[in-house]
Amino acid sequence: MSDSRLAFLGAAGLAKIKSLRTAVVGAGGSGSHLVQQLAHLGVVSVIIIDPDWLERSNVNRVVMSHYGLVGQPKAELLQWRLRRLRSRLEPIVDSVESPDAIAALQQCDVCFGAVDHWGTRHLIEYFCRMAFVPLIDVGMQITPGRNADEPPIVSAGGQVVTSLPCGACFWCMEFLHDDLITRERTEYADGARALQQQVVSINGLLASQAITNMLGLFAGFAGAGGVTRYISYNALDQTMRPHPNLLGVGLDTCSHYRAEGAGWAVR
Ligand SMILES: [Zn+2]
Repeated sequence: MSDSRLAFLGAAGLAKIKSLRTAVVGAGGSGSHLVQQLAHLGVVSVIIIDPDWLERSNVNRVVMSHYGLVGQPKAELLQWRLRRLRSRLEPIVDSVESPDAIAALQQCDVCFGAVDHWGTRHLIEYFCRMAFVPLIDVGMQITPGRNADEPPIVSAGGQVVTSLPCGACFWCMEFLHDDLITRERTEYADGARALQQQVVSINGLLASQAITNMLGLFAGFAGAGGVTRYISYNALDQTMRPHPNLLGVGLDTCSHYRAEGAGWAVR
């Protein structure tokens, strides 16, 4: 990588990006793009947290995987594939609730969430908030038509949501709400939860926006309004815009995670 292509970040911005200790939770369709881009940017460390092994059905969206790596832990295969870049890549083949993962999350400068489950998103945000770690979540949803009266794809897209310590959280922005968590629990209990549909192109687009948000937070690569906290992507309209839930949300406060006087700023 030639640093000259990153001159737009300025010397201080580039130094800041390279000094970042990062964590990516989920090494699947979105997480593999995130890890790849962090390593190409040359951040000093990337912790990759994922308890799962690569399956044949994952190969179509886990970038840098191939059929010869089926059966390998996803976090380890990403480390192996990117080992010759400068970042220190550290896989944790365990759940985000494991002591190693929690400790790692709480020591990083920025965390990325790239998981399928709403409950897991809540847990990641909780662990990040306890340690004043900013969190950038990436997720996509495709809703296929259920019958002949509906189009083959009813909706497709996703979102990038940025949760800053002391600022609006996932709950403030109504990205998370009780109905989502309750519905997910009920689907699990009933064994009715369907696999999330995913496609490599949308995963890559949303992961790229998440990394650009990181450049906005830590290297000032954003407009006067700063990083848009809740970005919504509609793949059928090919549009990316601020989510309407942001209207009326106070972005500088949160009533869910109390942190009086703690403050947080880019270090
Ligand atoms: Zn909140």
